[in-house]
Amino acid sequence: MKIHIDGKYYDERTAKVSVFDHGLLYGDGIFEGIRAYNGRVFKLKEHIDRLFYSAKAILLKVPLSHAAMMKAVVDTCRANKIRDGYIRLMVTRGVGTLGLNPNRCKKPSVIIIADKIQLYPPSYYKKGLTIITVPTVRNLHSALNPAIKSLNYLNNILAKIEATNGGCEEAVMLNAEGYVSECTGDNIFIVKGKQLLTPPLSAGTLYGITREVVMDLAREAGLTIGEPNLTRYDLFNADECFLTGTGAELIPVVKIDGRPIGTGRPGRTTKRLVEQYHALTNRSGEPIYD
Ligand code: PMP
Repeated sequence: MKIHIDGKYYDERTAKVSVFDHGLLYGDGIFEGIRAYNGRVFKLKEHIDRLFYSAKAILLKVPLSHAAMMKAVVDTCRANKIRDGYIRLMVTRGVGTLGLNPNRCKKPSVIIIADKIQLYPPSYYKKGLTIITVPTVRNLHSALNPAIKSLNYLNNILAKIEATNGGCEEAVMLNAEGYVSECTGDNIFIVKGKQLLTPPLSAGTLYGITREVVMDLAREAGLTIGEPNLTRYDLFNADECFLTGTGAELIPVVKIDGRPIGTGRPGRTTKRLVEQYHALTNRSGEPIYD
């Protein structure tokens, strides 16, 4: 594997960052998780847009232009002969001194790993996930806005630990007001009649790129989209529920906190959206090869 660090490629054993990188010392940095399908990088522009928005929010100067960053991702995929894969792009604050002050870090680092895809086992996509609400609430947007895709994922990791301790793969995270925000690495949707509903961004959710794509596909399919505040009650009484994320794609949820959702099996609308999503990922994206 060839890993891009600041414009050079290293193999897995020699790809290293300094112990003084504030990305490691303080989680001071940002990242994106991106997918390649069928020789194309899916929604690359949107991921790089979001990377730049995260950077702006934490006053991090990305050392490459938007165009150069897109090219670096495509080049790293090509160097690794990726056709279908998962790309982890990070920008760390860079090497500094002990102490929080980011101004001590003179040069942010860009790291790009283009690897094979790691999916949930196929059975989860067929049968659907059982998930639970966990005690750890999602970060307040007035404290650390979940819209910032930062290298500090402890809030999500704590929720993930609580989910796995409870025997589940995923956690529903509520915000401090008790409304549903999202899962640890995915956005959450419910279907109610002809409506597709997902929490608003103000509920403390990431501006998910898959979320955006799914809302467009649902509109095409004639569904009405809503972004109201949702409570656990709304989840329990949904006809269908599913999660979205670059890694997970669309995955049905069939039980939440012991309550079966709808029929207790993946729903028809979810299945149709999954098909539409795969059709789109197969035919669009930034070409890796000429
Ligand atoms: N929420 C969180 C907390 C995430 O980390 C992610 C990405 N893994 C998502 C939602 C889904 O976002 P996207 O569709 O852009 O991958």
